[in-house]
Amino acid sequence: MARCSAEGCQRWYPDLLVRSGAGTTIDSRWFCSEGCVETTTRRRLLDARPMASGIPTVPPVRLGVLLRHRGAVAPGDLELALSAQQQSGMKLGEQLALMGLVDAGAVVKALAEQAGVAYLTTVEPSMVRDAPGHLSQGAVRALGLVPIREPENNKVKVACTAPVPRVACGVLRRLTGWTVEPYLVSDAQWSALAQAYGESVHEENKGDQLAEFIKASSLSDAAARIASAASRRRTVSMTEAVCGPFTWVRVRGEGLVRDVIVDNEEDACPAVSTLH
Ligand SMILES: [Zn+2]
Repeated sequence: MARCSAEGCQRWYPDLLVRSGAGTTIDSRWFCSEGCVETTTRRRLLDARPMASGIPTVPPVRLGVLLRHRGAVAPGDLELALSAQQQSGMKLGEQLALMGLVDAGAVVKALAEQAGVAYLTTVEPSMVRDAPGHLSQGAVRALGLVPIREPENNKVKVACTAPVPRVACGVLRRLTGWTVEPYLVSDAQWSALAQAYGESVHEENKGDQLAEFIKASSLSDAAARIASAASRRRTVSMTEAVCGPFTWVRVRGEGLVRDVIVDNEEDACPAVSTLH
């Protein structure tokens, strides 16, 4: 006999029925129905706790100081950019580059040094057209990370802008198991990469080749969507990560890779769920 793992269900079923494909096993626990998957998933998402960001507490050196120290910008030019920045509200690096006072590459280099990460001064958008890492464009944009190479030895190189989105790196690591190696690029280069990511994957193959990405409107909506996909498979695995206001879930198994993201703040007062 097999027993449904959903709290409040726990019904027994003959082994023969389970062997013939009834129900779904999620992370080694068997559930009798889509409803049981949904209520358990919802509970699991509500219980998910934020991950530690790992953000260093040492305040970074100011970019202007760093650029001046490197001789990348003249003190007078820096003053000009700082006062223009107060009007424009742009980031200092962008402002300097816009005014032609510093080379965009020098800004990326200085920011990378500040963050202690690697950088790229030139990028070729064609290198991401096949969607290395097989994320969806939606996930790439939401994370602020573009995988630039197919993962190797469980390591993935990603392009990002400053400041390095450490929490997003942690989410990607948790969901995929890859070690994430960030490379800083300029804002313009990042946009070009994000735009080109997955471009050469044909529309009709996207579902097979890329992880499907769903923005759920609430935790309940997310649980329903996950349950509907998962309960069509016999065995799936589920990984969740809470970062800032978002909860990310990756459901994997039997050809299915689905990423679901939920904005928790829209679900601030979850209704009490009832089973069956
Ligand atoms: Zn059940």
